[in-house]
Amino acid sequence: MAGNWKMNLNHQEAVVLVQKLAWTLSDKKHDHGLAEVVVIPPFTDLRSVQTMVDGDRLSLRYGAQDVSAHDNGAYTGEVSASMLAKLGCSYVVVGHSERRMYHQESDELVNAKAHKALAAGMTPIVCVGEGLDVRQAGEHVAFTLSQVDGSLDGFSAEQVAGLVVAYEPVWAIGTGEVATPDDAQEVCAAIRERVREVHGDSAADAVRVLYGGSVKAANVGALMERADVDGALVGGASLDAEEFGGICRFY
Ligand code: PEP
Repeated sequence: MAGNWKMNLNHQEAVVLVQKLAWTLSDKKHDHGLAEVVVIPPFTDLRSVQTMVDGDRLSLRYGAQDVSAHDNGAYTGEVSASMLAKLGCSYVVVGHSERRMYHQESDELVNAKAHKALAAGMTPIVCVGEGLDVRQAGEHVAFTLSQVDGSLDGFSAEQVAGLVVAYEPVWAIGTGEVATPDDAQEVCAAIRERVREVHGDSAADAVRVLYGGSVKAANVGALMERADVDGALVGGASLDAEEFGGICRFY
């Protein structure tokens, strides 16, 4: 369960949210196990989150919302994979629809970023998903699979096995309009099948496929019952410790 905070919360607010989340997740009434929980704050919060996670030995993991496709040098405003790895990031989101939309990120760039993240020892969370017009035209599976093909180009079967792919239909992000479990399953299954065709059974069985788009504690259970939905990428609801805690205890 990964919580993408987007451009919300300064480093002091981040500390408060992580404290509340740690407290919520440690509630002994629910000590029969938890999902792997990941928070994805803005870059400026990462050092504070690292300090808390290390200092309090929290079982939370954390990651970044983006990474540069370059290693270092004259790229003002960018943050490299090695900088993020040095801060203890386990995950990096690449190709979020807001980056594809507002920063014209192509599959090729998303792919280059995913390679940089993996080479630095982090797990890319590769986001794919169609807009409303594509869904209405009935082309959502083909569109999403073409993003998968482009974004995962050049990875070996072993590498793909360790990746996370997040299916996030753009029409469901931040709209309150969650995909139905059937809709989520249809595309998540197609993503896994594409991995099976290209990389074989063990990569397909191991790759983690998340659904994202208006996930809340009240709807996550039905989504997680579907065979090919392995987890959720959560935006708005991850800013509330109780709500996100509820998502992490989806069963
Ligand atoms: C997201 O930003 O990845 C997302 C899924 O947002 P929300 O949960 O707010 O729809």
